Amino acid sequence: MRCQKEHEQQHVDDFNAGLGNPWIPSDFCKGKKNGFRPGLPKGDPQNQEECRGYQKQLDCLQNSPIVKSGALDNDINYVKDKCKQFCKQQ
Ligand SMILES: [Zn+2]
Repeated sequence: MRCQKEHEQQHVDDFNAGLGNPWIPSDFCKGKKNGFRPGLPKGDPQNQEECRGYQKQLDCLQNSPIVKSGALDNDINYVKDKCKQFCKQQ
């Protein structure tokens, strides 16, 4: 999957920001070893964090220089589905 790295980086940025995002507890990384894969914060029914990851990934895909070739259509459709699943409907 293309742009997976951007998706994961969004999580890293959000976890580092901690309290800047109300669904991430400030002690989320406390007591965890370096390299520990934390999963997602609990108590987030809409899964805002996963939503943000997929939105970032969608941005990345849609801004790719090869998007017009159609080579990313499958990836884009997949990620759009995930956004529908995880993002709060407006
Ligand atoms: Zn994710």
